[in-house]
Amino acid sequence: MSLKRSDRSGFIATSLAVMAFFTAAFTCCIWQARSVKQTYAIDPEARAIVATNTSTLSSMFSRKVVLLSFDDGPENTRNDHAILAILKKHGAQSIWMVNCKNLDPGLTPNAAVNRNTLSEIAQAGHVIGNHGYHHYNLQNVERDNPEQLKNEIAGCSDYLQAIRGEKPKYFRAPWGVLTEASADIAQSAGMTNLPWSRTLIDTLKKDSPEMNKASIKHWNELKVDDGDILLFHDTDRTVKQLDSLLTRLDKEGFVYGVPSV
Ligand SMILES: [Zn+2]
Repeated sequence: MSLKRSDRSGFIATSLAVMAFFTAAFTCCIWQARSVKQTYAIDPEARAIVATNTSTLSSMFSRKVVLLSFDDGPENTRNDHAILAILKKHGAQSIWMVNCKNLDPGLTPNAAVNRNTLSEIAQAGHVIGNHGYHHYNLQNVERDNPEQLKNEIAGCSDYLQAIRGEKPKYFRAPWGVLTEASADIAQSAGMTNLPWSRTLIDTLKKDSPEMNKASIKHWNELKVDDGDILLFHDTDRTVKQLDSLLTRLDKEGFVYGVPSV
């Protein structure tokens, strides 16, 4: 899935961009990236967060903004802690799109450990989002068991509310398979769809020498643009290569944002 950028001409002029910046700060989405505030808007068609005036604001601040997102966790405490340490080293904020099954003692034996990790992630200033209760393909759920769809989406938000005291504001469908009905449920539950624009090869089960080489090449050569949303997982691969990627992004002038509404 690619991140659609708004091409509304009204945001191109600097004066309008500044106006939009302050308006957006109160009415819509802003990215908070240390001293930089980047404006984004909700694309009603994609029901997603999209950049509005990235290039204009970037030229004003001379900084580029990227969003780091981590899916499917927390399920690997050792890796989660390693990733948190790398993010801290780079002063990077991020968003973690979690599966509620990882936090549910009825489904996951080490759910209590994962809950602690989730608290640590949140306490470190990262945003927690909803990535579905079981990580089911929502198109299949809708076809085979439609009454379950609400539980997969709104049910996970309710679960997060119960254990964290607040509901997530962002939803990302497992594998990016967002049906119309799923989008409606997510929207009714107060969430905005969070797409991604670039993936990292970080979920390979087998790490043969060839795959290892290909993955390192992919990470090293990944071209990141202003406004990109990168998709990671809390895997060994990410632990191995995240630091060098962020070191490169630091050198390229990026700051790391999180969305807020
Ligand atoms: Zn996923």
